[in-house]
Amino acid sequence: MSETTVTFAGYTIGYGKETYKELGPICSRYGKKAVVIGGERALAAAKPYITEAVKGTGIEITGFEWFGGVASYENAERLAKIDSVKNADMIFACGGGKAIDTSKCVARNLDKPFFTFPTIAATCASITAIAVMYYPNGVQKDVFVGKRPAIHAFINLNIIAQAPPIYLWAGIGDTLAKYTEVPFSSRGHEHEMAHKDALPLCMSRMTGEPLLQYGKEAYDLVKQGKTSFALEQTVLAITVTSGMVSYLIDAFKYNSSMGHAIFYGMTVLPQIEEKHLHGEVVSYGVLCMLMMDKQMDLLDKIYKFMKSIGLPTKLADMDVKIEEMGPAIESAATKYDIEFAPYKITKELMMQAVKDLEEYNKTH
Ligand SMILES: [Zn+2]
Repeated sequence: MSETTVTFAGYTIGYGKETYKELGPICSRYGKKAVVIGGERALAAAKPYITEAVKGTGIEITGFEWFGGVASYENAERLAKIDSVKNADMIFACGGGKAIDTSKCVARNLDKPFFTFPTIAATCASITAIAVMYYPNGVQKDVFVGKRPAIHAFINLNIIAQAPPIYLWAGIGDTLAKYTEVPFSSRGHEHEMAHKDALPLCMSRMTGEPLLQYGKEAYDLVKQGKTSFALEQTVLAITVTSGMVSYLIDAFKYNSSMGHAIFYGMTVLPQIEEKHLHGEVVSYGVLCMLMMDKQMDLLDKIYKFMKSIGLPTKLADMDVKIEEMGPAIESAATKYDIEFAPYKITKELMMQAVKDLEEYNKTH
């Protein structure tokens, strides 16, 4: 047996400037100088809040730096050479998944502590230790697992409510995968799971249940730029709960399954690559998985919920024809996501699920 160390990210979720009340006491233990790295829109949205929040805390901001647009090792290396970054004691990572993941890479390379300021709720990047990295041309390269996640995440719901609603929508879609893929891929192994996997398996319930309860209300209000209790529950499910599950659980066995494999497979289709978001297509893949696995009650619940907020439940919703699915399924069958499953997920099973789901759409 080897030792296990778990270091969760702390978090504050709040409204407007109240979110940063603890920034001084929490961050000043790690130094006096911080650099803010983020996306363009994120920096514009968060700059006034961060500038105000550090007043009187003894923390100096050395600069606001754009992360470069792509979460690449090249951007991380470029940032590490900038004076405002080199001279900082800590990194404030600000934005969506790509900006935060690039900052994680900079923090790792320079061995500096980092804090996150998510400005959209499309992923759990602000809480998990994993970073998804891309080639400079935007094609996905690999995933690295950092030594620890952020020390603390400051989640300002007012900023998230002002962001384009499509990010929350896609975040809901991706989190439906955490809710269904984790229990599916771990089925039959529950009795032998160590605490580090068994705990997030239990927690995965709290990724999807709040979404089914509050997701539609949160999304409807965000379309009007409004915060709500429902938004708070939804954002916690997408970022905090999902992030903790993904940080704790064995990423190569239980963290992902057919929903993601179908998405990665479908990226061979140009219309998916160009026009549709990760979480959007993943949620469609989740329905295929539930159909294949004959989890009809859960399928029915999630299907109705997805329809209520306009997530895709059939191929036509993503401008895809059934004849185009051959190569997509061919590719899906090669993904590691389906290697660890309660039974062998074959191309035939996946294709049948796609067809059965098309039929299901006609009668529901
Ligand atoms: Zn995902």
